[in-house]
Amino acid sequence: MSRPDLPALNIAELQPLLRRREVSPRNVLDLLRARIEEIEPKIDAYLSLDFDAAAKEAEGADVDLPLGGVPIAIKDIISVAGQPCTCASKILRNYRAPYDATVIRKLRAAGAIPFGKTNMDEFAMGSSTENSSVKLTHNPWDLSRVPGGSSGGSAAAVAADGAFGGLGTDTGGSIRQPAALSGVVGLKPSYGRVSRFGVVAFASSLDQVGPLTKTVRDSALIMNAIAGHDPQDSTCLSEPVPDYTAALGRDLRGIRLGLPKEYMLEGIDPQVKTAIDVAVKQLESLGAEIVDVSLPHTDYAIAAYYIIATAEASANLARFDGVRYGHRAENPKDLLDHYGRTREEGFGAEVKRRIILGTYVLSSGYYDAYYLRAQKVRQLIRQDFAQAFRKVDALVSPTSPVPAFKLGERTADPLQMYLADIFTNAANLAGICGISLPCGFAQVDGHRLPIGLQLLGKALDEARILQIAHAYEQSTDWHKARPAIK
Ligand code: GLN
Repeated sequence: MSRPDLPALNIAELQPLLRRREVSPRNVLDLLRARIEEIEPKIDAYLSLDFDAAAKEAEGADVDLPLGGVPIAIKDIISVAGQPCTCASKILRNYRAPYDATVIRKLRAAGAIPFGKTNMDEFAMGSSTENSSVKLTHNPWDLSRVPGGSSGGSAAAVAADGAFGGLGTDTGGSIRQPAALSGVVGLKPSYGRVSRFGVVAFASSLDQVGPLTKTVRDSALIMNAIAGHDPQDSTCLSEPVPDYTAALGRDLRGIRLGLPKEYMLEGIDPQVKTAIDVAVKQLESLGAEIVDVSLPHTDYAIAAYYIIATAEASANLARFDGVRYGHRAENPKDLLDHYGRTREEGFGAEVKRRIILGTYVLSSGYYDAYYLRAQKVRQLIRQDFAQAFRKVDALVSPTSPVPAFKLGERTADPLQMYLADIFTNAANLAGICGISLPCGFAQVDGHRLPIGLQLLGKALDEARILQIAHAYEQSTDWHKARPAIK
């Protein structure tokens, strides 16, 4: 089978070829492998690839299943039995997952083939994938720029046609922001919609797994496979899972979209602002009614997020002590030396910063002043959204205030990096769903850099934001643009 352009297809385009037996799952995998070998020297999206195991699965794949024979890239924070699961951290360098995460089990049940693990910020802490202890991933649209993060490997792989689709995790924006910066679609499901079992925990009250794909329809297809109740995750909701493709194709008449006035910040890049303004006009021309809304506590979202996320991270990362998993310091003098040096050697600077910050905000003298207060602010942010959703069906904003920034440009200033999430992390605090999709390009230094449009929906209203996103996407050509990778 010679079809070198096959990896450029999206999932919905690939499926009929598989179902009509015009290509076999093995052909698909081999062609994808050739594509990855071509682009990886430039992009560096993957931390590990297991084509031998994938080829075996491809041989037995049932192409009539919903994702039958479709290879999917997996962020290296999600357990795939037998494959490395390093979270891009030295502390888990030699760790292999002993079992499948529920999302992987569900993907396999739908026929998909997890074949490789993608680069990320260490333990998903970051917005550029530069906190990986292993390597830098490059933005396919401009190799001197970041792909976004923390799910930057999955985003870059999909953008570069090095994956038909991918899974990421989003704690404060880590699916939507890299989707925006790399020019793909990324969906953060509502809290509890998708199981976290087998996903290494960063901040348990915020983390969600979701798809990164070339189109909105592909995100709906992956959501159909991964959403739903899981007895192994007590925070996973038992509400029935709709068919997320069912509403795709409906127009936007009767849909009310809110523009939060607090999101019209000073610091937004003018090209981003223009693209969003044009996208809003486009949504209006498709039949949506645009309404001004207010999210009065927006200013406090980043601060509350970085208190709650670090507090939870400090507790979750206590398990990496050199006894049970991964790296272990050599010749410890005593137990404390063993713990101390294992963690000193195993964790990178950003992870340590967060453990220290999180431990501090939970300490008895400061708990009330920081952690408890952040929880109260979180409640106010939730109420802001609840108020807004009384008036509108979804909210519209930029995903990121800027297009992809240069590698190295923000690494020296963690606070600057934290601001990358200014439009995304309130959704995690509130537990609602959000999607980012391409809505144009900025011209910077002779490169076209993708811009992302964010739609936020009520908890469990994924079908609606997918419908709106799909209507917009189909009325534009943005999703058809491919990076030149040079
Ligand atoms: N950039 C945010 C952080 O560093 C969000 C990360 C994420 O969503 N995993 O915490």
